[in-house]
Amino acid sequence: MTAKDATAAKGIFVNNRWSPAASGRTLPVIAPAEGSTFTQIAAGDTEDVNRAVAAARAALETGAWGRLTATERGRLLTRLAQKVADHAEDLALTEARDTGKPMKQARNDMIATARYFEYFGGAADKAHGESIPFLNGYFAFTERVPHGVTGHIIPWNYPAQMFGRTIAPALAMGNAVVMKPAEDACLTPLRLAALAAEAGFPEGALNIVTGLGEEAGAALSSHRDIDFLSFTGSPEVGTLIQTAAARNHIGCTLELGGKSPHVIFADADLDFAIPVIANTMVQNAGQTCSAGSRVIIERAIFDKVAALLAERFALLTAGTPEMDLELGPVINAAQKRRIEGFFERAERDRIPVLGEGKIAPGVPKNAFFVAPRVYGPAPRDHELSCKEVFGPVLTLLTFEDEADAVRLANATDYGLMAAVWSTNGGRALRVARRIKAGQVYVNAFGAGGGIELPFGGMKKSGHGREKGFAALHDMSQLRTTIIKHD
Ligand code: ADP
Repeated sequence: MTAKDATAAKGIFVNNRWSPAASGRTLPVIAPAEGSTFTQIAAGDTEDVNRAVAAARAALETGAWGRLTATERGRLLTRLAQKVADHAEDLALTEARDTGKPMKQARNDMIATARYFEYFGGAADKAHGESIPFLNGYFAFTERVPHGVTGHIIPWNYPAQMFGRTIAPALAMGNAVVMKPAEDACLTPLRLAALAAEAGFPEGALNIVTGLGEEAGAALSSHRDIDFLSFTGSPEVGTLIQTAAARNHIGCTLELGGKSPHVIFADADLDFAIPVIANTMVQNAGQTCSAGSRVIIERAIFDKVAALLAERFALLTAGTPEMDLELGPVINAAQKRRIEGFFERAERDRIPVLGEGKIAPGVPKNAFFVAPRVYGPAPRDHELSCKEVFGPVLTLLTFEDEADAVRLANATDYGLMAAVWSTNGGRALRVARRIKAGQVYVNAFGAGGGIELPFGGMKKSGHGREKGFAALHDMSQLRTTIIKHD
């Protein structure tokens, strides 16, 4: 397969078949590392969403999909995992062109994507209910049943991984799904849908409608025949999704980003911590919901940590996917301008730039590159300390003692991830358990990883859990059956 074939979009995917949008409209797809259009996607809207939801409903009620056993669903997912592994290189090529990320990151994304299907394929027939002691003469049991038709809206930062993260557990539990991937990067979800059909998924089990958020996305989230919604993206759109879910009295999972802290005590192993903190911050050019974008440092070692991170950032270079450096461009011109706005306001407010990376010479002029930066010390209430930048920007802050560290770690609206760095095990655990975040690492940090580990927000980072067995629970509902036998 050539790069050109790998990145050719085919349209809207319903009932295992491709078609143009009902309106015939298309949207341009821009390569962030080139700054120019390289293909078109279908601009789906209400009519396309209606067709996709009807196909999913039919797959459940009259089609082959609704009749499969959990074991059979698991086998299909496992087969899809193998197909992703077999096509990993051309999928990575597609992902890299569509998002701009370096090839090594795109390759890692495909390993993770295959792993979602492997994990949830294996788990499909292991999510079972229980029997419940009840009154004499009765037998009561619970079972996990699918929601029905689930709607999934994902962002552009990790299109393939996000597809795996939300779709694999939904299919494992027997839902029929309709996905609206992000207009800025949606080519790998389309390729994955084609691979799912090749793997043997019956028609209607998995449907994809590409298009704009305010058209296809809004039509999907407000559709009256959707039984559950799963959304990852901005808090603003999250509010719209939850409102749409409320109007239809259905549940939803929301993952709305973070401003995840690293808490570094003076006794931390800095040789290990510093590269992990810098590398995970610039992974995907900082466009990762769980990026550790605030470093909270015990005052006694602030200067030392600041110098080490500054040195590390100076070594980072942004380049094209083929250059395969530490980071790529950001997704689009608007995102680049938004990050530059943070830079301008930081300069106005005299927040020191401690270190800055480079943009590789020779990258296309129109591409959306931003050099990574580390700022600090920043005031606690500055936007760099509280707001999600979604770019390769790290903010350093100081803390005085353990209680202050906990206070500061919890001082934003978000609560997605956190890390505590200390060689005092008791203290590390004590602090970790006081941080309000869905995932807390101790002496480690894995932005984006861990398919087995329940993941999701506390506070305004959202609700519901993806990944791990918890995802199977969120993607299903419990039915209790009570039988009187005497
Ligand atoms: P980001 O700012 O990271 O792009 P968004 O929340 O804008 O995040 O987008 C995440 C996903 O939500 C994308 O697939 C986008 O198309 C979709 N989306 C945007 N606006 C709406 C909307 N009004 N209704 C439903 N989905 C939307």
